[in-house]
Amino acid sequence: MIIQGKTNKWELVIGLEIHAQLNSKSKLFSHSSTKFGEDNNEQVSYIDAAMPGMLPITNKKCIELAIKAGLAVNAKINTFSVFDRKNYFYPDSPQGYQISQLFYPIVSDGNMQITKDNGEKKTITINRIHIEQDAGKSIHDQSPIETFIDFNRVGVPLIEIVTDPNFNEPSEVEQFMKKLRNILRYIDVCDGDLEKGSMRCDANVSVRKKGDNKFGTRVEIKNLNSFKYINKAILYEANRQVELLEEQQDIVQETRLFDVNLGQTKSMRKKEEANDYRYFPDPDLLTLKISADFINNIKNNLPELPEDKKRRYINNFHLTTYDAEVLTADKAVAEFFEIIAKKVDPKLAANWICAELFGRLNKKGIEFYKMPITSENFCTLLQLITDNKISGKIAKDVLDIMFENNNSPEEIVKKHNLMQISGTDEIEKYIDEVLNSNPEKVKEFKSGKEKLFGFFVGQVMKISKGKANPQNVNEILTKKLHSI
Ligand code: ADP
Ligand code: MG
Repeated sequence: MIIQGKTNKWELVIGLEIHAQLNSKSKLFSHSSTKFGEDNNEQVSYIDAAMPGMLPITNKKCIELAIKAGLAVNAKINTFSVFDRKNYFYPDSPQGYQISQLFYPIVSDGNMQITKDNGEKKTITINRIHIEQDAGKSIHDQSPIETFIDFNRVGVPLIEIVTDPNFNEPSEVEQFMKKLRNILRYIDVCDGDLEKGSMRCDANVSVRKKGDNKFGTRVEIKNLNSFKYINKAILYEANRQVELLEEQQDIVQETRLFDVNLGQTKSMRKKEEANDYRYFPDPDLLTLKISADFINNIKNNLPELPEDKKRRYINNFHLTTYDAEVLTADKAVAEFFEIIAKKVDPKLAANWICAELFGRLNKKGIEFYKMPITSENFCTLLQLITDNKISGKIAKDVLDIMFENNNSPEEIVKKHNLMQISGTDEIEKYIDEVLNSNPEKVKEFKSGKEKLFGFFVGQVMKISKGKANPQNVNEILTKKLHSI
């Protein structure tokens, strides 16, 4: 993205540090629960509280999940890695340090492809993924004179995914975050819930004169936890930097926070004020040595990734690229589709999910997760079409009613008397009625105006309130008109 300043054109450069909470029931170095939303300090073991003499024990499951994430982004899994202590004093960290990995991370050199808004593909390189523990939470809004501490999150397992500064616009960042979240959900590594803080993003932003080779000074915006704010924060920050540079002022390398009410980034700490973390290998923990077997076992059990699923939908089900993309862009949607595609024609299922279901969800502003329609009921609806019990047109009305009460489609069809009419006698009755009340048109048809066939079909559909089986109407009508 190019920002037009008063004197120059500026190019935007962004690199991301993304924290994702690992789907582990217990913490990284203790067996306390990681469950969200429990009472304050209900999930704190002696290890989490940093009682003297307590020793951490590495949770193997977390190592497995970090490796899984690495494999899913085509990265190198390092068979040797080390946990380091990052020392800083803050009330939410009872140990006085955070256990992280600085010098030898468990994963390095990955990549992921995104599709830009203009359809172009772009590869984002991932510098590293390391494992670390989360900190606790200071609560400032319960009392005017006291701060409370909740240690439930202390020691919750995270991975930090660090990209190279490859992004040039906020929309690329959004694409990447969405795709990454989708992959992490597919492989069951992180629930990707931004609202609960299971995924948060620090965006590093700098600008440079268009054509410059050297990067500008970067500013880090911490803890962005919604796509909307990521976008706004980056744009605000980039424009702030352009204004400063055009006034011949320097950019200070610092950490800023995005104030969602003001829509501005605010300085949190300058580089000179930054902590000296005095990293060193944690003496209480062994180095991680990972065998090729351990990695291969994870690799062989990796679930199907979104890109592979997409390819399979296109090749096996003959879906359009667009439909395949829509259906695989979210794990829950793909699961919904596959339940249905087992029972009805996958192409029909894809059409109805992408066009009719998503059309209605978008219009009503309902998220897929919150929709009232179960896969069972949606499947039944499509079976009714396949079995010629209702027409596609009536099925759309039934779907509208399902949105209101999520009754089963069968109940709705029964209650509103929408069952398709296929019986020859009944259809014949409608046809006779139409032909008898349009003798002129019948004459014209007989004298060669064959286009009128469509008119007769239309009339039959109309008086049957859309319920007559169109194929049967066609057949019987053809016979009738020939025998007149
Ligand atoms: P540090 O270790 O000091 O945090 P890194 O070089 O590891 O620094 O970079 C941290 C993050 O900042 C990475 O996501 C990287 O892509 C990003 N980054 C580095 N330089 C720039 C820059 N000039 N503009 C924007 N982002 C940058
Ligand atoms: Mg950093």
